[in-house]
Amino acid sequence: MRISFLQRVFDLIAPRLCCICGSRLAPEEDAICVSCNLRLPRTDHLLQPYDNALAKTFWGRIKHMEKAAAMYYHHGGSQASYPIYNLKYDHRPEIGTALGRLMALEMENAHFFNDIDVLIPVPLSADRQRERGYNQSEIIAKGMAEICGKPVLTNVLERREYRGSQTQKGRWERNENVENAFFLLNGNKIKNSHILLVDDVVTTGATICACAKQLEQVAGVKISVATIGFADLKR
Ligand SMILES: [Zn+2]
Repeated sequence: MRISFLQRVFDLIAPRLCCICGSRLAPEEDAICVSCNLRLPRTDHLLQPYDNALAKTFWGRIKHMEKAAAMYYHHGGSQASYPIYNLKYDHRPEIGTALGRLMALEMENAHFFNDIDVLIPVPLSADRQRERGYNQSEIIAKGMAEICGKPVLTNVLERREYRGSQTQKGRWERNENVENAFFLLNGNKIKNSHILLVDDVVTTGATICACAKQLEQVAGVKISVATIGFADLKR
């Protein structure tokens, strides 16, 4: 990343802070300081993108499942959760862009994007997006796109229901809640495409599966998955 003179001046006036430890960021650091970044509980998914804990979550549930990768294991309450928490609840969209870029750099090194055609972020309902001001998964996807150069499509999937915060609901209720929440809009745009579905955190995989079910109505569609945090429930 090139650091402009202006950026250095801004850093002096309003220092940017690491979203995990709160220490002051160096101009070349992006939302997370180098030492916190190194301490994130990273997955090794990129070593085996077709056969890892995240990919297995979708085996038998997504018909044309290809590969999957999460950046780090997500545990509620641990420091590794802070970036996602800040992104979702603390109006810090720039963290999503930074996380998307960071993860995409690692994916690019592993040639993950080579056969991917388009990125599709998991949509939010219009109500929720208005409330938050942005869709965190879309922000992450756009950060990834800065690195991989693939198009981000936000007009193919739509999420239509809104029934209060999911965090207050049990796992089963949550599953039922998302199953019929997504709708396919412009199927012609993704014919014969290898789609990378982008989410912020994957837990049960129900949301991703519900999205995939819609996308797979289109001929020749293949699905891969990328998420920043993964709560591996069997771990
Ligand atoms: Zn830090």
